[in-house]
Amino acid sequence: MFGIFKQLLDLIYKKRCYFCKKSYENTKMCSKCYGRIKFLPFSVMKNIDGVPVYCASIYKNEIQKLIRGVKYHNQKELAYYQAKIMFDYWQNIAVSSGDFVVVPVPLHKSRQKQRGYNHMVLVAKEFAKLCGYEVLEAVIERVKETKPQYRLTQIEREQNLKDAFKFNREVCELISDKNILILDDILTTGATLSEIIKTFKQGGIDREKLFAFTTSCSEHNIV
Ligand SMILES: [Zn+2]
Repeated sequence: MFGIFKQLLDLIYKKRCYFCKKSYENTKMCSKCYGRIKFLPFSVMKNIDGVPVYCASIYKNEIQKLIRGVKYHNQKELAYYQAKIMFDYWQNIAVSSGDFVVVPVPLHKSRQKQRGYNHMVLVAKEFAKLCGYEVLEAVIERVKETKPQYRLTQIEREQNLKDAFKFNREVCELISDKNILILDDILTTGATLSEIIKTFKQGGIDREKLFAFTTSCSEHNIV
C-alpha cells in the first residue's frame, strides 16, 4: 500500500527527466542523458570576420530537444543544463581564463513579448554564474524585426539581418577592458553572428576582444 502511495507522490512531486522521462534522479536532465552529449573538438570551429567561434556540440538528439525545450516549450529549468554543457566545453578552451562579459544574442522586443522571455538570456545567466563572468544584455539591441532564418538562402539571410542590431555606446564604456563573448544556441550559416560582429566593430570594439560561442551547430558545419 505504502509503495503505491510513494509512487503516487513521486509521480506528483518528483521531477522527471525531460529526455528519458524517468524520475529516479529527480532532475530535469538525468546523468545518463547528460552523458550522451557528445562534445565537438575543443578548438575554434569557425572564423567569422576574424572572430573565433566555438561550438560545443552538434544540433541533434538530446541537444536539439534541449534547445527546443528552452526556446519554444517554456522549459526554463533546462537553461541550466544548456549552460552546463557550454561550461563543460568552455573549460577546455585556453581563452576561457580571460576576463569576459557574456552577451546573449538579443531578440526583438516584439518577439520577446510573444515568447515571454529570451531563452539565451536565461542560458547566459546560468553560464556566467558557472564561469564567474558577468552578463551584459544592454550593449546590443535588436532593432529590426527579422523573419525566421531557416527558410532563407544565405543572401536572403544577410539581407534579412542587415542593420538588425544597434550598439549601445554608453553601456559599452562599462566593459572597455574586457573581452566580449557572444552567446547563441545554434550556428547555421553564421549570418546572425556575422551581423552582430559587424555591429560591434562599427561601435569601435577591436576584433581581438570579440569571441563567439554557440551551444550547437547544424551538421553541415562539420566537414
Ligand atoms: Zn534521462
